[in-house]
This record gives sequence, structure tokens and C-alpha cells, in this order.
Amino acid sequence: MKYPKTLRTHCPYCKKHTLHKVELVKKKPRRTLSIGQRRFLRKMKGYGSFPKENPKNREKSVKRVNLKLICQECKKTHSPRGWRVKKFQIVEVK
Ligand SMILES: [Zn+2]
Repeated sequence: MKYPKTLRTHCPYCKKHTLHKVELVKKKPRRTLSIGQRRFLRKMKGYGSFPKENPKNREKSVKRVNLKLICQECKKTHSPRGWRVKKFQIVEVK
């Protein structure tokens, strides 16, 4: 889907509709010291196979998009609830 680069939407800080800049949020790198990651690394250390086999030829084709909306009035960032699309593009709209 195509999404505009700037749009007028509600800002929870200004409590009204303002112009927002849209940015795509990239996935954060793994927190290496989080308990889940430590457990995973411990499991990977020993014998045996990978804890969860990755199913082959089953890459997810529909992924959730994470957006960042930057209010042009207060410069604060908030994000809408992401939705799932196959293809995502930010386009400039005149
Ligand atoms: Zn605002």
C-alpha cells in the first residue's frame, strides 16, 4: 500500500489535529542481556539442535508495519497501532 509522507491526524499531546511527518520504524537489535536472550544463548551453547526449528519455505509474506508520527507543532512522536500489509511504501503527495 502507499502511504502519504505527511498527513493531518490527531496529536494526543496537542489534543487536536495537526500536521504529522511519517517515518518507518526499523526493528531494534536484540537486547543481548535480556533474560529471554540469555536463556536462548544458554540453550544454544550445549548439545542438541536449535531450540525451535525454523520452518523452511515459510517466510511471512504479510508483515506488520511500525510507523512513527512526528507532530509538526510540538515535535513529539507517537505511533499508531501497526497493521499488516504485504507491501508498504511512503510516497510524497502534493
Ligand atoms: Zn502535537
